[in-house]
Amino acid sequence: MGQFDHINDAPNLPFSQRPIIILGAGIIGCATARQLLLNGFPVILVAEYLPGDQDIRYASAWAGAAWHSAGGITADQRYFQAITHRILLKMAQEDPESGVAIVDTREYLEQAPGPNSAIWGRSVVSKFRELKPGEFPPNFNCAWAYETLVTDPTLHMPYLRKQINALGGHFIQKRVESLEELYKMFPESSIFINASGIGSKVLSDVKDENCFAERGQNVFYRTDKCDTMYFRNGKEYTYVIPRPMSKGVVLGGVKQQDNLSPDVDMDIARDEITRAHRLAPGIVPENPPEDTLSYIIGIRPSRKGGFRLDSEQIGARTVVSAYGFGGGGYAFSYGIAHEVVKMVEKAERENVIEE
Ligand SMILES: Cc1cc2nc3c(=O)[nH]c(=O)nc-3n(C[C@H](O)[C@H](O)[C@H](O)COP(=O)(O)OP(=O)(O)OC[C@H]3O[C@@H](n4cnc5c(N)ncnc54)[C@H](O)[C@@H]3O)c2cc1C
Repeated sequence: MGQFDHINDAPNLPFSQRPIIILGAGIIGCATARQLLLNGFPVILVAEYLPGDQDIRYASAWAGAAWHSAGGITADQRYFQAITHRILLKMAQEDPESGVAIVDTREYLEQAPGPNSAIWGRSVVSKFRELKPGEFPPNFNCAWAYETLVTDPTLHMPYLRKQINALGGHFIQKRVESLEELYKMFPESSIFINASGIGSKVLSDVKDENCFAERGQNVFYRTDKCDTMYFRNGKEYTYVIPRPMSKGVVLGGVKQQDNLSPDVDMDIARDEITRAHRLAPGIVPENPPEDTLSYIIGIRPSRKGGFRLDSEQIGARTVVSAYGFGGGGYAFSYGIAHEVVKMVEKAERENVIEE
């Protein structure tokens, strides 16, 4: 008999003691854990990789990570991004340990913004203004300046780990092969949150075929000129994301579907430096010295049709799915956490009333 075989399907710990179980300790799992703990729920996170770990499949260790409004998203999704901005701004203003910083931005557009473009973000960022011709390179259609937020993941993930521990959350480092394995580990829990990123492609009882790996490779260039972000918006996908607290800028980018190589592709790296130099010649020289360069490789947990965020009843349990955030997990994170808390509150309310 297994350790938990004597326990039947229904949760049997009182409401206030039964932990919410989160699979995954990336930015989505950790932001959700923090928010649940702040709302008074006991929380346990189970994950193969924890804040501070480095593996290319652990996307949250490698992100840029800039807050940039996404185009082509729904009104609800815009609001998730807006909530994230509000929470990150407070961290930037009050808590330098968070690794979140306010930076100037120059965004250059190859074409005038179409319907449902990223321009909705002007109501969220600070000091938004359209640049006048002459203020931006002549090969662009238009340009914007504003203040936004950048998150240094090398500081933010350990900061979140510390916060979660201080709020009474627990981490268990473990790989599981299915959600079923988690139900067996925690028979007393009724709510499980799947924040496993690209893991949802292979978990045996999830196997979401819409999930796909999208490799990113960036150049980190060490420099003191690290307080302005440059973003090229159009057919060419180029950014210079400052990381003021690590004294450097992240140059990118590239998206390679289903490529899982952990090795630096020097052709890509050279191309990124060339593009970044064209975009921000005042920051990135044409040939930066080799000893100022290092390389970042990570797999974005992308999903055809966009991310999954829903709550479903599976037997006696509620399973909340929050994965597939591709290249925008940081910009969505705290808004998603906020929404997941609402789903958890609703499910636990129903559990309590039925009891
Ligand atoms: C180069 C690069 C640049 C980026 N730039 C930006 C940016 O500028 N702005 C932005 O918003 N986003 C950016 N992103 C995207 C961002 O990094 C991701 O969207 C985000 O990190 C996804 O977070 P997550 O928590 O869903 O997944 P992850 O961080 O991948 O975490 C998944 C977690 O689930 C665990 N897990 C998975 N399967 C299992 C299993 N079977 N058993 C146990 N544990 C499991 C993992 O161990 C891990 O803890 C970038 C990404 C890359 C690669």
